[in-house]
Amino acid sequence: MHPIPNWTEQIKAATITGVIVFAACLLGILSRPMGHLAALWPANALLIGLFVRFPTLNNPCGWLGAIVAYVVAYVVTYPAADIMTGSNWSVSLLLTGGNLVCVVTGVLLFSWLDDEHRHLKHPLSVLYLALVASCSAAAAGVVGAIADPILSNASPLKGWAFWFVTELVNLMAVLPVMLSLPDLSGFRLNRRRTFKTYHINSGKILPICALLMSFTLGIIVGGPGAPVFPIPALLWCALSYDIFITSVLTLLYSGWVLISMSLGYLPISIVNMNSRPMLLSIRIGVSLLALAPLTVACVMAAREELLRQLKYIAEHDQLTGLLNRRAFNERASSLLIRLSEQKRPVAVLMLDIDKFKDVNDTYGHAGGDRVLVAFAHIASAGLRDVDMLGRIGGEEFAAILPGCGRKEAEMIAQRVRNKLANTPIDIGDSQQIPVTVSIGASFVHQAVPDIEALLLVADNALYRAKENGRNRVESDDVNEIKN
Ligand code: GH3
Ligand code: MG
Ligand code: MG
Repeated sequence: MHPIPNWTEQIKAATITGVIVFAACLLGILSRPMGHLAALWPANALLIGLFVRFPTLNNPCGWLGAIVAYVVAYVVTYPAADIMTGSNWSVSLLLTGGNLVCVVTGVLLFSWLDDEHRHLKHPLSVLYLALVASCSAAAAGVVGAIADPILSNASPLKGWAFWFVTELVNLMAVLPVMLSLPDLSGFRLNRRRTFKTYHINSGKILPICALLMSFTLGIIVGGPGAPVFPIPALLWCALSYDIFITSVLTLLYSGWVLISMSLGYLPISIVNMNSRPMLLSIRIGVSLLALAPLTVACVMAAREELLRQLKYIAEHDQLTGLLNRRAFNERASSLLIRLSEQKRPVAVLMLDIDKFKDVNDTYGHAGGDRVLVAFAHIASAGLRDVDMLGRIGGEEFAAILPGCGRKEAEMIAQRVRNKLANTPIDIGDSQQIPVTVSIGASFVHQAVPDIEALLLVADNALYRAKENGRNRVESDDVNEIKN
């Protein structure tokens, strides 16, 4: 449990858990046709998910808010239920006990898992999710074994089995959505990027359309195979969308099977809905089927992360973390195309560390490497956010400065040169050495999509800077040089 320092936060936690649990209980009770236990009971899974994803809610007031919500929801809605006997208060306390045992077990087990499993980011995360859900459901089943004989004269074993299965289905359906919930703090800080992430183009709509069609087909055709109809479409969704959207669609699928069956919209002739074993079998089947799309989505997410890392390695210099020559040229070319379409000016800098060979010869290759890393930091800090910097050779760097004419380009280049000249570089063994850089700049009033020409003119200006004594900036207008 995470202690929360101030009362406002504690009251906030109690309100959030209370409101969410109360609403989820009402939803569960609404999904319960007369004569049956709830088809969907999302409250426990939502509460586990809240405590796992938002640990600041996991404090005494957060738990208190949830407990009050469970008890009140049961007491308020009991007159409508006709399957239970006994006083409202004792029954509601018993059922609340079952819910709490489930939630405590789930929260405890998740706290032992790695963060990547808690966010469903590993191919094995779904397996851990299934294990945690099974243990939490089994723990709730123990309360069911006590409660069911009191509430509906069932045997303890049947009571355990029924509670276990019902909890398992709900946990397997709702928990993945909570665990894969996008980072909401990022939503506020970086709204544009989050919207971009969830931008769905028309081609990406097809898997969802296929899923909706298979739901409809299941209802039209019916029969024992109907609950499996949406599986291929769900797998297609898992291949197309991220784990969060796949979790939401899988939840929709579980809800579709359970609710449409209990309302009689999904005509499965062999299933007698009043038969508990039949109901349990269907519920277990649905929760196990839901594992397949979730696993596919997790594997896809892990694969995409791997590809992202590979792409990063392929495009970046290992020592400085800057773009390498190939990636710099590629990105600079596309940037120049955009700038030339917008008819904007652009400047290019070539930066070469002075007498770098001497640094290597005097302080060793490791000392030289430290100078390269330090220079990469200084140059990045001296450029603007819109500028692009790359390491295009041993101690040679290039930068592209969108929108810059001669004056701005020279000002930025001088800023970098000055900063390096005034910053002694730490090369280890408590030694600091002065390092300087020579910079050649090329600029053009209206960008042309020709990075080679800009680099060549900047390189010639750099050569002049070296000839004129190093630690200086020289610049040339590309158009003047060409003419
Ligand atoms: P100038 O002022 O004319 O630029 O002289 P310079 O010594 O900087 O230029 P030169 O091209 O003669 O030397 C560049 C040196 O950079 C030679 C090479 O060994 C070294 N070098 C290239 N890549 C690396 C690297 O990754 N790490 C280290 N430590 N040195 C490197
Ligand atoms: Mg050099
Ligand atoms: Mg050089």
